[in-house]
This record gives sequence, structure tokens and C-alpha cells, in this order.
Amino acid sequence: RHGMPRPAFRRIITIANQKGGVGKTTSTVNIAAALAMHGIRVLVLDLDPQGNASTALGVEHRAGTPSVYEALLGEISLLEAAAPSTASPNLLCVPATIDLAGAEIELVSMVAREARLKQALDPAVLDQLDVDYVLIDCPPSLGLLTVNALVAAAEVLIPIQCEYYALEGLGQLLTNIDLVRSHLNTALHVSTILLTMYDGRTKLADQVTSEVRQHFGGTVLRTVIPRSVKVSEAPGYGQTVLAYDPGSRGSMSYVDAAREIANYGARMGGSETNGR
Ligand code: ADP
Ligand code: MG
Repeated sequence: RHGMPRPAFRRIITIANQKGGVGKTTSTVNIAAALAMHGIRVLVLDLDPQGNASTALGVEHRAGTPSVYEALLGEISLLEAAAPSTASPNLLCVPATIDLAGAEIELVSMVAREARLKQALDPAVLDQLDVDYVLIDCPPSLGLLTVNALVAAAEVLIPIQCEYYALEGLGQLLTNIDLVRSHLNTALHVSTILLTMYDGRTKLADQVTSEVRQHFGGTVLRTVIPRSVKVSEAPGYGQTVLAYDPGSRGSMSYVDAAREIANYGARMGGSETNGR
């Protein structure tokens, strides 16, 4: 195992794409696990009421568990909601319970409704949790939960599935990111695009890959995540693919992707707002 550099500054990365099933959750938990395996401290925020990230990280998310929902309402601190993941001692997860399903509507009438998560991600609290990275796994929508994640982060990581219609809806996501940047969070930028579920046997996968690279250039990670049964089986065991089958191509590609991300973080030096 080669080391991975810790970032010069704490990085808060939102994993967003309003399409479901593109690999947001899978990428969040496996990149988090890969960083943690290399001694980097990571907090995952599960912002999807489905709680899939919590499940994959082996963290309790039954109704009534202290969760991101109460933290959004300001009822508890993230210190109370962050639970250790079974995946690594360096990995914490703030789970999502089914309560979060109502938050999208409840937030509408709240004061500073777009900035609730940012408030919860108090730097003093993150210092106490001693985390280098915060990864926020978004639900498959552009609603208030995703807006909260975009306001709270400096970086966006967009997973793109190497499939038909991969780019559909991407324009809308980028427009929303621009809106948040100009009105609510000037630091926000798309730092990373990750191609997922690549199937080398299809011409289509290569077409999507080259189209995305042409369009987004150096923002796209060199590492592409292959479609792999091991990746899809792991959550059923409450595990990341790194734990479930460390030698698999899926696992190794997530480690490579995490290394690219970590190296970018080390290069960023003084500024969190520089694009690539
Ligand atoms: P999202 O969070 O964007 O909705 P998920 O990460 O939950 O997407 O992935 C959708 C489905 O695809 C899940 O069942 C997941 O296990 C599966 N999946 C994700 N990445 C891969 C992969 N590289 N190979 C095979 N299956 C994958
Ligand atoms: Mg998901």
C-alpha cells in the first residue's frame, strides 16, 4: 500500500447527480473507505433518506437513531450523530433515517433553509471530530437537501454512469451549481468527475467516456470505475467493496480514484477555490 497525502486544508465534497443509480452512494462510501484505509480521517454525511451509505458503512440507521435529520433541524450537534463505521477506525458516518424523507418539505418554511447543513458543519465541530474530509452523499434530486449539500461544500464530485443518457440532466445540475455559486457559496466548484460502471465490452462506454473527457477535460479522473458484480454485492453485506473483496478490480479502482483525489487535495496548497 502506498501512502496518500492528507489535504492541506479540510475538504468538503458533495457527491451529486440528480439521476438515481449512477453510483453516488457507491462512490462516496468506497472513496471514503479508501482514504480512511490510508490513514486519512473521513466523515460521510448520508443525505439520502434511503440510508444506503449508512448501510454500506455498517452504521445503524433505524428510525430514532440520532441522524443528519436532527442535525439539520439544529436539535443536535454532528458530534452526537456521527457514528464509527465498521469499515475503518478513521471513518465516521452521520446516518440518514427515514425521518429525512420529510425534511425536503419541512425545510421549505425554515429560516436559512439552504444553509442548515452548513451551520451543522461547524468548523469547531469538525475539528473535534478530527476529520480531513467530509463527503456528502446526496439524494437523487435537486431539491433542498441537495442545495444544502452544495451550500455546505467547496467541491462537487459528479459521478457519471457510462451508459445511454449519461449526460442527460447534467446541464441542469451544472446550472444549479452555478446558481448556488453566484448566490449562496462563491467557493463552490466542480472539482471532480468520476466515470462509473464502465463496461469495456461495449462501444457505448467508450463513446460516453471520450465525450465526457472532451467536455470536462482535466476535471475527469483518469481512473474509471468498472462495472463489477463485487461492487454491487458488497452493500448487501453491510460492507464497502474494499472490505468485501479487496483484490477485486472494483476495489482497486476505487483506491486509485481516491489517490487521485488525495493528490489533487495536496496540490491545492493555499486555496480551496481553485479549479483544476
Ligand atoms: P446512486 O447513489 O447514484 O443512486 P448507487 O451507488 O446506489 O447509485 O448505485 C446504483 C446501483 O448500481 C446499486 O445497486 C449499486 O450496487 C450498483 N453499482 C454501483 N456501482 C457499480 C459498479 N461499478 N458495478 C456494478 N454495480 C454497481
Ligand atoms: Mg444513493
